[in-house]
Amino acid sequence: MALEQQLRVPGPTPLPERVVRSQSRPMINHRGPEFAALMAEVCSGIQEVLRTRNDVLLFPSSGTGGLEAAVANMLSPGEKALFCSIGSFGDRWADIATAYGVDVVRLKMPEGEAIDPEDVERLLAENPTIEKVFVTHNETSTGVTNDMPPIAAVVKGRGKLIAVDSVSGASCLPLDTDGLGLDVVVTGSQKGWMAPPGLAMIAVSKDAYAAAERAKLPRWYFDFAREKKFQERNQTYTTPPVSVMYAVQEGLHMILEEGVENVWARHALVGSMIRGGVEAAGLRLFAAKPYRSNTVTPIHNPAGTPEELSKLLTLLRTKHGLVLAGGQGDLKGKIFRIGHLGAVDIGDVFVILAYLELALSEMGLLSRVGLMVPAAQAIAREGVASAEPAGVH
Ligand SMILES: *Cc1c(COP(=O)(O)O)cnc(C)c1O
Repeated sequence: MALEQQLRVPGPTPLPERVVRSQSRPMINHRGPEFAALMAEVCSGIQEVLRTRNDVLLFPSSGTGGLEAAVANMLSPGEKALFCSIGSFGDRWADIATAYGVDVVRLKMPEGEAIDPEDVERLLAENPTIEKVFVTHNETSTGVTNDMPPIAAVVKGRGKLIAVDSVSGASCLPLDTDGLGLDVVVTGSQKGWMAPPGLAMIAVSKDAYAAAERAKLPRWYFDFAREKKFQERNQTYTTPPVSVMYAVQEGLHMILEEGVENVWARHALVGSMIRGGVEAAGLRLFAAKPYRSNTVTPIHNPAGTPEELSKLLTLLRTKHGLVLAGGQGDLKGKIFRIGHLGAVDIGDVFVILAYLELALSEMGLLSRVGLMVPAAQAIAREGVASAEPAGVH
């Protein structure tokens, strides 16, 4: 039995000790000066990481609340809008819009594949009334990262608004919010930001605010306009999760000390190492090249039946203290997923791969052991340049 559990699901992610300690402080008044300073620092740090000068609105919520906020603020009942889905989270966004009475046009790709910008172009040409496009940056259920620059270029080239779910991409994968003209970017504290769940962060452009003024969907808790007013005073409308914000602040210190580009490069290297390691032992990656995510790696079930896969994950958790994720929705029993985002480094990859290989061999699923870690070491030695293209952005 391992002494400590290693959490390697694609969110919530492990908390560095610095982050854990940052939260154990006395509570403060969320209408007082200490909170205003915290809020100002957190928002400007997120802006720096997201490469944006747009406001970053903070809502006490999980990431899904951020997705709902984008829908409720940008759209009107019966309005036609394009939702590009490459998996469960893309479907969730479209489902939220459907529940709100939006006329959803769904561009749906087979699981494991990325959005083709030409499909977006075609659908916008066929549906000239569509003014807003919703895209998942990094689909956590399938381990696919959409190539955002050409997708954004198509949408912005037609003068439309684009909203992006980067809950599991932001801070780990390159995303140039202002360079690409992204109008709404949604992310959440428990993924790449190395903080606990509880805070949705949403970057909102001037055009998105203007659209929110015209949009007629009902909204209360997630109202951008009201939140903006409070945020101008460095407050939130409702009581914020202050302790989570201390954690986000400390996570931001770590990200900015390392350097945002270095954080991206670390994720690219770690992603390559995980992929190289599991493939060296003959396991099969689920996502299509070259869109494989550098934050989460889904792997085809190496154990045969869903029951055997479940045994593998249980063995890893109970005997080796390594917590990996199964598949979501249709992919349950077909794949398992390794989360490698936020607090993850080369050494963590060795541990993940070594335990995975051990458990696979304990279940009689590997004919040869000792392949995974050396393959990952070779990638680490040569750096990411020699590995498969370091993910798109
Ligand atoms: C985690 C995640 C979300 C939000 O999930 P919550 O459980 O509501 O925080 C949304 N989109 C993607 C791509 C995610 O990975």
